[in-house]
Amino acid sequence: MRPHIALLHPPSLFDFRELKPRHGLATATVASSPVFEYYPLGFLTLLEYLERHSFDVRIFNLAVKVARSRRFDARKAVRKLEPMVFGVDLHWLVHADGALQLARICKEEHPGVPVLFGGLSASYYHRELIQSPHVDYILRGDSTEQPLADLLRALQSGDEPVAVPNLVWKRDGQVVENPFSYQPELLDVRIDYRRTIRHILRYRDLRGNLLTGYQWPAYAFNMTLFCRGCLMNCLTCGGTNWALGRSKLGVRDPEILADEILSTQELTPHGVGVPGDIRQHEPDRLIDALRRRKPTRPLSFELSGPGGEEFLRELASIGPPLDIHMSPESHDEELRRRYGRGYGNERLEADLDFILRAGGKAFLFFLIGIPGQTRASVMESVDYAERLLEHHNARYPGKLDANISPPLPFIDPGSLAFERPEETGYRLFARSLAEHRKLMRQPDLRDVLNFETDTLSRAEIIDVAGEAMERMIGVRERCGLLKGKWADRERARVLEAASGGRA
Ligand code: SF4
Repeated sequence: MRPHIALLHPPSLFDFRELKPRHGLATATVASSPVFEYYPLGFLTLLEYLERHSFDVRIFNLAVKVARSRRFDARKAVRKLEPMVFGVDLHWLVHADGALQLARICKEEHPGVPVLFGGLSASYYHRELIQSPHVDYILRGDSTEQPLADLLRALQSGDEPVAVPNLVWKRDGQVVENPFSYQPELLDVRIDYRRTIRHILRYRDLRGNLLTGYQWPAYAFNMTLFCRGCLMNCLTCGGTNWALGRSKLGVRDPEILADEILSTQELTPHGVGVPGDIRQHEPDRLIDALRRRKPTRPLSFELSGPGGEEFLRELASIGPPLDIHMSPESHDEELRRRYGRGYGNERLEADLDFILRAGGKAFLFFLIGIPGQTRASVMESVDYAERLLEHHNARYPGKLDANISPPLPFIDPGSLAFERPEETGYRLFARSLAEHRKLMRQPDLRDVLNFETDTLSRAEIIDVAGEAMERMIGVRERCGLLKGKWADRERARVLEAASGGRA
């Protein structure tokens, strides 16, 4: 069957085997290979929305294929696809080079098939991107489900896509920017893993369709979507309300979200992650909707700051043991405030006590590369994490985990740090898409970073990251949180990047 659209996820670099980049540190804490093979969650919302509106969709994760097999021929694979449109994601900027290489391959193999780009980085760089002869359309914004269906209808009927909101396109070589008018407050999106499974069976392609396909089944999780345009405004994040130019948070109906979470839990033994702090929108309604459905498997919630006993009790009343992710960023409360999170360690530690006493577990993330942060301060954050991990895991084995990393390799375009570097304490090494493509092709991670801070240079960030991350691996091993080949793998990535290839 000829799909209406093939959604292609590119590797960060196609020729990484020849280039031999030492970028492993960049993915050491996110369980991804250095080609960044996770496709954006938007692929799953697009799959569901488009199929619900009678379109055929093919998801093809080229990054997983390229990473797993030296013999995989991306050009041959693209040649075999015959969609009405190719959809390439440029969501995370690390794919700047791979996405444009992929667009070129699509055009060379199928000159008559239009190539569409989407994702947050594609939206930010739409004016630069549309200049490429290999790019025909760009759909801007965080919500492109309905505009994409409109575009497919226009293409089917041979009409000019003049009425498709958020679309950037070309008419006789001239760029046309349709109004950026679609940014819904109530999101008509769903993630339906049943569809994903049907998709896997239809195309006999397991790893190419699972979010965690590269390492599956050793590592697997399910994500859901709570909101778009987070209200938190962390300095380096490009997914914030401010960065997206939203006037309001994009939210979902709590009953639909609760149904989705439960049906996901019925399909798979793995936990379901709910990213984005649910306190941003009617938490009581979601908690109540979940409680009524009596989930039995773990649900992991991300909180942007301490919840306090009353809220944590409410979360615990849903049923499964609490599983909370928090990012205090630093042990230093002033640095934490500077990054956008104004709370003290006392409240954080009170939350940990409550969560662990209640039989739950927690994960803490610390950040390297906050303006004003020095090498000594980074190491004090590791000391702080070590104290917490040793103290709590002695009493509640395996229940408190933590990690530390810089935002690698790029701070997000559109973020406060990217738009106001001097005011926020950053210095940038690249602004344009072309400059970021060039950075991605540097072999040494020290030359890839698009930023440094007022207190740490790029080289210092990587050096201190290597040291801090290696120490964290040791702490986590001692606390029984990291074992065997996983510890070896993380250590190898850290050492490779930290040595600049001299190891
Ligand atoms: S990094 Fe901060 S701003 Fe971005 S989604 Fe997470 S909490 Fe929101």
